[in-house]
Amino acid sequence: MKKLIAVLIILLLGLAFAQNTGSFRYSYEDSNNELFREYAQILSQRQFFESISQNLNKAIALPYDIGLVAVQCDTINAFWSPDNKAIVVCYEMLDILVDAFRRDINDQQELSNAVFGALEFIFYHELGHALIDIFEIPSTGREEDAVDQFSTLFLLDTDVGISAALSGASFFYTIGEASGGSVQDLAFWDEHSLNQQRFYNIVCLVFGSNPNQYQNLVMQNS
Ligand SMILES: [Zn+2]
Repeated sequence: MKKLIAVLIILLLGLAFAQNTGSFRYSYEDSNNELFREYAQILSQRQFFESISQNLNKAIALPYDIGLVAVQCDTINAFWSPDNKAIVVCYEMLDILVDAFRRDINDQQELSNAVFGALEFIFYHELGHALIDIFEIPSTGREEDAVDQFSTLFLLDTDVGISAALSGASFFYTIGEASGGSVQDLAFWDEHSLNQQRFYNIVCLVFGSNPNQYQNLVMQNS
C-alpha cells in the first residue's frame, strides 16, 4: 500500500512540474430549495471548499482549472464530472448524511462534525477519481476501493482528518445497517464494495496508521 501511494505521489509530483497552469476553484450554487440554500450558507460559513482548495492548490499542480461545486442535483450523489472538469457535491448528499447521523447523534456540534467529516471523506474519494482521470493514473484493483483508500490515506495526516475518515466509515456502517435485508439483497453487482466492507477497510487503515493509539477500534464491544 505504501509503495502504491509513493508511486502515486511521485507521478503527481512529476506531472506537477511538467504542467502547472490550473487551480482548484470553488462555488456554492444557489437553489430554489430553502433547505439547500441553508446548506450552501453553512458550507460557505465553514469555508468547506475554501480550506480544501487552499491545501490542494499548494499540493497539486493541475494542467487546467478544476471546479469544486456544491449544487442541487435532484439526486443523491457526489461525483467527478470529466465533461465539466468539476467535483460535484450535491446538496442532496449532504441531506442524506444529516438523516443518517441524526438517528444516533443528538448533540448539534457532534452531529455537525460527523456530517461534514463524512462529506470531507466523500469529497476526497471523488478527488481520487478526478486525479486518476486527469493524470491517467492506473489504479490497482477496483477503482472504487483505490479511491476509498486514497481518501483515507489523504486524511490520515491530521487528527481532524482521521475523525473525518472515521465519520465516513461510520456513514457506510449506518446506511449498511439501515438497509437491512438478507444477504441476497446486498449489491454484489455494484462497482463499490459493500457498505460494511467500506466501513471495515477505512477503520483498518486508521488502526494500522497507529495501532497503539487506535487500539479501541478493534476491541470487542467498543
Ligand atoms: Zn467513487
